[in-house]
Amino acid sequence: METVLISGANRGLGLALAQKFAEAGWKVIAGCRNPAQATALTALQEGHDIQICKLDVTNPDDIAALAQQLGDEPLDVLINNAGILDANRNDLSSIDYDEWQAIFATNSMAPVRMSLALKDNLKRSPNPRIVTVSSEMGSLNQNLEGAIAYRTSKAAVNKAMQVLATNFASDGITVVPIHPGWVRTDMGGPQAAISPKESAEGIFLLASGLNNEMSGRFWTWAGTEHPW
Ligand code: NDP
Repeated sequence: METVLISGANRGLGLALAQKFAEAGWKVIAGCRNPAQATALTALQEGHDIQICKLDVTNPDDIAALAQQLGDEPLDVLINNAGILDANRNDLSSIDYDEWQAIFATNSMAPVRMSLALKDNLKRSPNPRIVTVSSEMGSLNQNLEGAIAYRTSKAAVNKAMQVLATNFASDGITVVPIHPGWVRTDMGGPQAAISPKESAEGIFLLASGLNNEMSGRFWTWAGTEHPW
């Protein structure tokens, strides 16, 4: 049985990913900030191998405790899914720089901290993979207005994952950022193009088939390569 660890697994895409991997027979380690309030995730535990753990990805103590809890357990796939978006995202005249820092901490730095903290567990897998949920909004090819904090945070995490891919290559760890599509979640909104289930199914297929040759490249939920 393979093991996946998913951050932000209590709602939205993270919850759909937890469900997809669990239904496919994987062991799921599901991180969320408030396990006591994660009712949908808790309900999913019935009949599935889902272990819920407290994980605020911006809290180094939570990450260290998680790594300690895992001990020597092999980890096949790490999905850095947790993410936040600018509240005031189209107005350059009122940028909240504190919020921008918080967005960087969550979207850009936390995936690196998570990847480094869990590297030894990943190395115990025969096919270790890190999938970081980024966004096409961070692509340097997309030149649209607004959401400066979110866009730069996703551009930064793309570069960070490329750097990790190079550094982790000698350990056989595949590292990719992905665009999950425009997904109907609290973040994506009700008009979004695809359901969390559709996105999760695509990401599951992509993660299942990832290999070293695909490392350090930017992918989409549909399995196609995305321009940086
Ligand atoms: P949601 O806003 O629906 O869910 C976000 C999830 O991230 C929640 O579980 C939330 O937990 C968690 N989270 C936020 N901050 C932290 C933190 N510090 N520690 C742990 N968990 C945290 O968003 P989506 O499900 O739509 O987004 C998932 C990922 O997909 C994000 O990285 C997002 O940027 C990306 N994405 C989404 C798109 C879309 O169209 N929806 C498009 C492109 C990318 P809590 O409930 O505690 O707040």
